Amino acid sequence: MIEKTLKEAIAYAKSHLGLKDEDAIYFQNFLLHEFGLKEPYQGEIDEKKIAAYSLPDPIVDSLTEDLVSSGMGPGESQRKATYVMGLLSPTPSQVDEKFASLDKESPEKATEYLYDLSIKNDYIAKSKVDKNIHWVAKYDHGDDLEISINLSKPEKNNKDIAKLLSKNVAVTYPKCLLCEENIGFEGTDSHPARENIRFVPLKLNGEDWFMQYSPYVYYSHHCIVFYKKHVPMKISGETLKAFGDFVDQFPHFFIGSNSDLPIVGGSILNHEHFQGGGHLLPLLISKDKETVYTSKKGSKVSILDFYVTSIKIMGSDKDDVLSLGTKVIDKWRHYSDPDNEIISDDSDGNHSTVTPFMRKIDGQYAVYLVLRNNRCSKAYPDGIFHAHPEYHHIKKEGIGLIEAAGLFILPARLKRESAEVEEAVSMDKKDYLAKYPDLVSFEGMIDEMKATHETSEAYINKVCQGILKNVAVYKDDEKGQEGLHKFIKETFHE
Ligand SMILES: [Zn+2]
Repeated sequence: MIEKTLKEAIAYAKSHLGLKDEDAIYFQNFLLHEFGLKEPYQGEIDEKKIAAYSLPDPIVDSLTEDLVSSGMGPGESQRKATYVMGLLSPTPSQVDEKFASLDKESPEKATEYLYDLSIKNDYIAKSKVDKNIHWVAKYDHGDDLEISINLSKPEKNNKDIAKLLSKNVAVTYPKCLLCEENIGFEGTDSHPARENIRFVPLKLNGEDWFMQYSPYVYYSHHCIVFYKKHVPMKISGETLKAFGDFVDQFPHFFIGSNSDLPIVGGSILNHEHFQGGGHLLPLLISKDKETVYTSKKGSKVSILDFYVTSIKIMGSDKDDVLSLGTKVIDKWRHYSDPDNEIISDDSDGNHSTVTPFMRKIDGQYAVYLVLRNNRCSKAYPDGIFHAHPEYHHIKKEGIGLIEAAGLFILPARLKRESAEVEEAVSMDKKDYLAKYPDLVSFEGMIDEMKATHETSEAYINKVCQGILKNVAVYKDDEKGQEGLHKFIKETFHE
């Protein structure tokens, strides 16, 4: 019954969201008005039990169930529940104040506060995220990768993302999911309700930014740092300067950005933003293959022993590290090496960019630059340095920063398809296709598993490694490594 659930929601907010006793009746009356009720629930509720909740799910689930049984549609009920959680959360300015005061004690305490609040007010759907499948892939040759099957996020394809960037979609409010105007927004059928989002202001490279957490948290403390203005993503030396300010303020977090071009970038290219967090992605802990340059100020440039082509710059002089990183970005943007299929500019425009990361290691600054190119060819219409067609049944989406750094986010459909494939291995082709017609694109996988007797997980591990090798602009062979050294030489020694 909705009256009872609302009373429980108030009790929950008092014990988990910092709602003060003095404000409780005030918000109770707002909720009565919102739901067209004459008076609050008069019966008892179990406040002790509510205080022991570690997640908001019992409250949110009761709210949506009550609303659905009163005749509201499921989407609208979900949005209404978000409205209640947002109303009962501290206001944005209260969050800013608390974050700032904790930040003076320690940045870890501040980021932890915002993370915990975002879970407790249901912005991060923690229970859904916990259901995602996650494992570590180990190999005889090469670094471990992390692989997850994400059950909460829809799959997008590269063509849709490119269209979003070029079409200048009709102006809506808010303009996109990363605009400041999302705060408190009630949501529509096509735009999620955001009454419960909370973010805090940051100053990076002299400009206004905000930090929030990702509702999908792909890894621990997965944060999103977004620019105050709705402007397209642009990777340059300025990006690295903003990164430098971020890691100075939050030395326990890494920061990274998707590239600024389709295919090799993320799903939102029209609003400048970064992603970071408290988890060390495989790229960020991979070893140096060789040191290729040392600056006068002692910064060391190395090639990483990782699947994608990545250059690391590390040193204690921040300006020196940033300027060496900028050199790589500027040089790579218009650098061509046709012997290795790398062409930076043609009639379709610019194809070369980087996926940058930065973190602090023992007080030193470390910049990681993954060289990217998004050119397509007749043989590879979805991208020469993108997952090749033989892998599309596993992953077709663009390889953004998280995947380029070795954490794969695979689509939800794979949970069902893997189970079907495991079953199909002991069946004849015509029988499994009759039972599961969508396995038609999995024939190669099934044949291979029949021959090798490996599990679907082992097969997926191989595919993910193969995809990163596709993404490498310089292959791990003589021609590729020669080309990479030539690029390094022209960047640092001339
Ligand atoms: Zn925006």
